[in-house]
Amino acid sequence: MDCLIVGAGFAGAVCARELAEAGRQVLVIDKRDHIAGNAYDHADGHGVMVHRYGPHIFHTNSERVFEHLSRFTDWRPYEHRVLAVPDARCELAYPMPINRTTINKLYGLDLDEAGVAAFLDKVREPRDPIKTSEDVVLNSVGRHLCNKFFRGYTKKQWGIDLSELSGGVAARIPTRTNDDDRYFTDRFQAMPSQGYTAMFQRLLVHPNIEVRVGVEYADVSPQTDRAMTIFSGPIDEYYGHRFGHLPYRSLRFEHEHLPGVAQYQDVGTVNFPNDHAYTRITEFKHLSGQTHSGTSIVREYPTAEGDPYYPIPNPANETLFKQYEALADAETRVHFIGRLGQYRYYNMDQVVASALALARKLIDAAPQRAPMATQQRAAMPMAA
Ligand code: FAD
Ligand code: UDP
Repeated sequence: MDCLIVGAGFAGAVCARELAEAGRQVLVIDKRDHIAGNAYDHADGHGVMVHRYGPHIFHTNSERVFEHLSRFTDWRPYEHRVLAVPDARCELAYPMPINRTTINKLYGLDLDEAGVAAFLDKVREPRDPIKTSEDVVLNSVGRHLCNKFFRGYTKKQWGIDLSELSGGVAARIPTRTNDDDRYFTDRFQAMPSQGYTAMFQRLLVHPNIEVRVGVEYADVSPQTDRAMTIFSGPIDEYYGHRFGHLPYRSLRFEHEHLPGVAQYQDVGTVNFPNDHAYTRITEFKHLSGQTHSGTSIVREYPTAEGDPYYPIPNPANETLFKQYEALADAETRVHFIGRLGQYRYYNMDQVVASALALARKLIDAAPQRAPMATQQRAAMPMAA
């Protein structure tokens, strides 16, 4: 084996494929009982396609990333829409990101685009410098809208105040003066037509790739003889937390099937910034376009304990990460990649781009091996 890849999510699978095509023999392990990492999807007990680890909507401006994944999947065009219910008692729902409709409906106005821009200019609280997520939101929409749509959601999601999070978190959500109610405006927005897991299966089926699921890094590490390791698990875990634990935010997913309910909500996701212990409800049929007499939804409950889903971006955590990164930089045979390996709040497309770049660097750095194309590996387990 030339390379051990820890993690069969986007980071690991994309690296594995690139290295395999360059003739390297790769072993991919994942401690879960399935491939596809957090993007794993499957038919639930009622035959509805669901995402086990919360809704994953593919969007990118990178033609290269989109073209690359298109080798392994067809796509179903899908533009995600989100409504926010700031007061669950009256259940009025407003487009999120905030747009012209949000402002007019919330304040009983009838402003045109220029009117909305002028309105926002009046209510915003200019901040300079803009460092925290609170700065970002107050600077763009002011305190009232911040408290309606952002402060409560953020406290619930991250367990800390907007002012304690780097600006990049809230900056993921734009503010619009027009009627565009799409969550993303990327050039490419689509869902893998047979799902993410099917796409990963195609990514990982290659004569030079062997996949073992249900396998922990600690259990194989000493036993394998290889030139290099690509690690997409938490970087602090790899180093035995020697500088302390990097903070992560986790989620508990509450999946529910509603028999006989053809459609539960008007859009893919409804956010609840101020009520309930969960942040949002997603109805999967919007994402997949599936027809079914019932429907399946998921509620996301943020938690401090549990699987590490989100790095928590703020200066203190960035400083701690830098200590681990310095160790990583000194390694010659281990490379860290992905949301947990690089401790970055990456979307899927960013992980793919990062994995392609790492694979290219490694392939360019080492002399080419003769492709080993003759030996077909055993069929890969999809899930337990
Ligand atoms: P992962 O998918 O986490 O894969 C890492 C894998 O490594 C895991 O399967 C894990 O089991 C394995 N592993 C870790 N440690 C070990 C070990 N010691 N031994 C063996 N295996 C190990 N992105 C979008 O672009 N659009 C979205 O709509 C979107 N929605 C999201 C919603 C939620 C709730 C979450 C949590 C994330 C969302 N993301 C979304 C982000 C997306 O999930 C990530 O960008 C992407 O999955 C990261 O891929 P990865 O390979 O870095 O990590
Ligand atoms: N956010 C918010 N209210 C919303 C939506 C988002 O306050 O209705 C903030 C919140 O801090 C959230 C961040 O913006 O964590 C990023 O939102 P996004 O939907 O991108 O989060 P993800 O899908 O990654 O969980």
